[in-house]
Amino acid sequence: MTILVTGGAGYIGSHCVQHLMSHGHSVVVFDDLSTGYERFVLSPHFVKGNTRDKALLVKTIQDFHVTAVMHFAASCYVGESVNEPGKYYGNNVYGTLQLLDAMRETKVSQLVFSSTCATYGVPQTLPLTEEHPLNPISPYGKTKRIVEMMMEDYSLAYGLNYVALRYFNAAGADSTGKLGEAHEPETHLIPLVLQTATGKRKNIQIFGTDYDTPDGTCIRDYIHIVDIAEAHRLALTYLTAGNSSDVFNLGTGHGFSVREIIQACEQITGKPIAVVEAPRRPGDPAKLVANAAKANKVLGWKPAFGELTEIIRTAWQWEQQVTELPSLSR
Ligand code: UDP
Repeated sequence: MTILVTGGAGYIGSHCVQHLMSHGHSVVVFDDLSTGYERFVLSPHFVKGNTRDKALLVKTIQDFHVTAVMHFAASCYVGESVNEPGKYYGNNVYGTLQLLDAMRETKVSQLVFSSTCATYGVPQTLPLTEEHPLNPISPYGKTKRIVEMMMEDYSLAYGLNYVALRYFNAAGADSTGKLGEAHEPETHLIPLVLQTATGKRKNIQIFGTDYDTPDGTCIRDYIHIVDIAEAHRLALTYLTAGNSSDVFNLGTGHGFSVREIIQACEQITGKPIAVVEAPRRPGDPAKLVANAAKANKVLGWKPAFGELTEIIRTAWQWEQQVTELPSLSR
């Protein structure tokens, strides 16, 4: 089995590539390196390209005899998507349409798609199950939901078999030290807090201290990146066993507030972390926590990194190491 991994040079995609290869799969990475890094490409098979380029996708699938696809390539900043929706509809929706058509032309029918809890919008009930209404509020969340709808239609019309995995907050790093979170600019809480611990940043801003939560700060469900990678592997096994298309949440079911994350980081790093209380960030729901019982029951998925401290510890190992790298040049 040869798996095409779009966005395989990014944070989540590269961890999946590593995980798939460690389980004996052959992987082709397809990435335009606009946000990914060449040093994160762990497969010997790499094609530099954008998913909007259908001809290159078709050629890649044919050249490498690809049998299944994992699709991570996307623009993924909620805030940016509000200001630059065209970029999001172009990369995430049009890019995926080209991929779906390339798969159709080459008769590759198995697809695992990187979706998000942002497809739910503001929760009406918690924890969120897959049955919760889908009312995404940001262009980012909308583009991911549109892709899910495109896959539903391609499944009915052309026999596409897909699994969409709706992740909550991806965090941590694998243990080899080769991969980790390195967004430019970084906007995610855990790396920003840890960069404050290394001295790379002066302080961490808490976006909103007046939410309706026990300590007033937002609560999120942080899930380890290797557990996400494992869910992709299981989703592919599920599809190759002939099961029907479906959607699954990926989270631990435990929520932690921004203040709890900062405290845990202080404990693990042994360094004080300067905090600045700032206004709310637009579009942040107070609380997002997953019910991932379906992934457990149907895919047999269970997070191995159940404890927040374990997740932060791996992120800290990476963060200390990455400050010593000359540069993360593309
Ligand atoms: N957050 C924060 N300060 C930061 C970055 C994030 O207080 O510098 C908060 C953010 O408002 C949210 C939580 O941390 O409530 C997680 O944000 P992140 O961007 O990591 O993930 P998101 O939940 O947006 O996917």
